[in-house]
Amino acid sequence: MKINLAKSAGFCFGVKRAIKTAFAAAFSGETIEMLGDIVHNEDAVDKIKKAGIKKISLLKNGKNKTLLIRAHGAPLDIFIKARALGYKIIDATCPMVKEIHKIVVAQQTRGRNIIIVGDKEHDEVKGIMGQINHRAIVIDALENIPFAEIKKIKKACLVVQSTQNLEKVLKIAEVLKQYITDLSFFNTICNPTRTKQQEIRAMPLENDVIIVIGSRTSANTRRLYEISKSLNARTHWIQSDKEIKPSWFKGAESVGVTAGASTPDEVTKEIVEKLNNLG
Ligand code: SF4
Repeated sequence: MKINLAKSAGFCFGVKRAIKTAFAAAFSGETIEMLGDIVHNEDAVDKIKKAGIKKISLLKNGKNKTLLIRAHGAPLDIFIKARALGYKIIDATCPMVKEIHKIVVAQQTRGRNIIIVGDKEHDEVKGIMGQINHRAIVIDALENIPFAEIKKIKKACLVVQSTQNLEKVLKIAEVLKQYITDLSFFNTICNPTRTKQQEIRAMPLENDVIIVIGSRTSANTRRLYEISKSLNARTHWIQSDKEIKPSWFKGAESVGVTAGASTPDEVTKEIVEKLNNLG
């Protein structure tokens, strides 16, 4: 059984940067707290916690403490509140997410309504919404476009959560263009996501089985899984080598393996090793 590992499998530069920032902060000797998970992967978060960074769910007294902002970014009011409580801030927001923040702020000042294609409950989307004064419209699927609201809009700016599925986004943009005469479309899907999606559109057609590795909480891993599953029914999403079932590979000559942007390389290596042993 041949194992084909995707070239783009694993950490993107934004996640690498956030983890490096977290470890540098942990070893500074200061008291560091992170609000929620810095990246969407339990193994990576565990290591960061073991290095001494405390995960919190609420901001409290920040005197003599530093708050680490995660790769997905945070709404402006978190920065304001944290500073008011006495925290110093280390911002590990991915530069590509920061770019989306800049776009929505600039476009709002030009009088445009902000529309985001993304998952309503995702931290990145909440962070983007939290940069502007007005309510942004969030569209998570073609079938969920709020037409009553959209029809009233004359000028809008459309941005995209960095890890969305390109095909889905282009379809939504096409529909919106029919209703909003002045629509500025910024396709803010990041380059690492585009590369991963290109690979996962080819691999399921070239391999008998596909293994997608990543946390259940990782939006970009979900996207890779969904694309692959639509092209090859023998696609499986796992978080560790313990979930592998030998029956998945019956008669398979090749297995394609990819991993989400927040999946550590060690996890992928363990899984590839196990697959090699099975083969
Ligand atoms: S997936 Fe893209 S936007 Fe998100 S952290 Fe990685 S590089 Fe940055």
